[in-house]
Amino acid sequence: MRNILTEKIQKLKRERNAIILAHNYQVPEVQDIADIVGDSYSLSRHAADTDSDVIVFCGVHFMAESAKILSPDKTVLLPVKDAGCPMADMVTLPELRQMKEKYPYAAVVCYVNSSAEIKAESDICCTSSNALKVVRNISNKQIIFVPDENLGSYVASKVKDKEIILWKGFCITHKRVKAEEVKKIRQLHPDAKILVHPECEPEVQKLADFLGSTSEIIKYAGEIPERDIIIGTEEGVLHILRRQNPGKRFSLLSPGLICTNMKKTRLEDVHNSLSSMQYEIHVDEKIRQKALRSLKEMLKVK
Ligand code: SF4
Repeated sequence: MRNILTEKIQKLKRERNAIILAHNYQVPEVQDIADIVGDSYSLSRHAADTDSDVIVFCGVHFMAESAKILSPDKTVLLPVKDAGCPMADMVTLPELRQMKEKYPYAAVVCYVNSSAEIKAESDICCTSSNALKVVRNISNKQIIFVPDENLGSYVASKVKDKEIILWKGFCITHKRVKAEEVKKIRQLHPDAKILVHPECEPEVQKLADFLGSTSEIIKYAGEIPERDIIIGTEEGVLHILRRQNPGKRFSLLSPGLICTNMKKTRLEDVHNSLSSMQYEIHVDEKIRQKALRSLKEMLKVK
């Protein structure tokens, strides 16, 4: 049955001249059918470079929107209409405008896990891997950092010469990891390396051996000699880690590290998406232009 579905998807993909992009947090069957698997920003860059006419983005809404911002002439499809990101929804345009009025001299840095509207209202975007560089590169002394408070706190702990005004947003998945769990795991597995994402709480970050974005975690796990590695990010990443490192043992720092929105997409949805060309992502052109400017500003930072 699975094989038949996979064949149907491949056939539709050829007929539509489509590419399938899947985030590292997607279920294994979706990762396996994808042309490219990666984190949100690397996938959007691939989307911008592809010759395909149609991009099926297996992820959540803001990711497909970013692909559309970078590739306005392509048809971008999100297979599950309500696959959203609660963190991205934690900042609204009126709230951000209010904050800007309160701090008129502050620059706004927005994490790519945000809507097109918020990107458009910001001065520059950042990812979890370049947030430090982006903030250091800004001349303003005050920075409004949206929406992830934990990533913003990490930046504030490293950049002492600026005032970082933190938004109270958070990733409901990464927030589930508690420092107590990390301490217990450390006691049980004293030789293991603990690698966590900066969306985890500061107390958890401090207890880890390595802090990095999803892509950085994958790279670092492959490079270190340790065979026991405990991961503090969404469980979907274990699929690629185990495939790329058959001699190592990977486990999850907390059973709560599962993003329900990322798990909504199944092979059937990918098939329906391609056969019915659903659900197409649209971004208002004025908003797209402004959001693109924020993304391009980020790319200038070396
Ligand atoms: S893992 Fe967190 S940031 Fe990523 S989509 Fe899920 S809720 Fe949003």
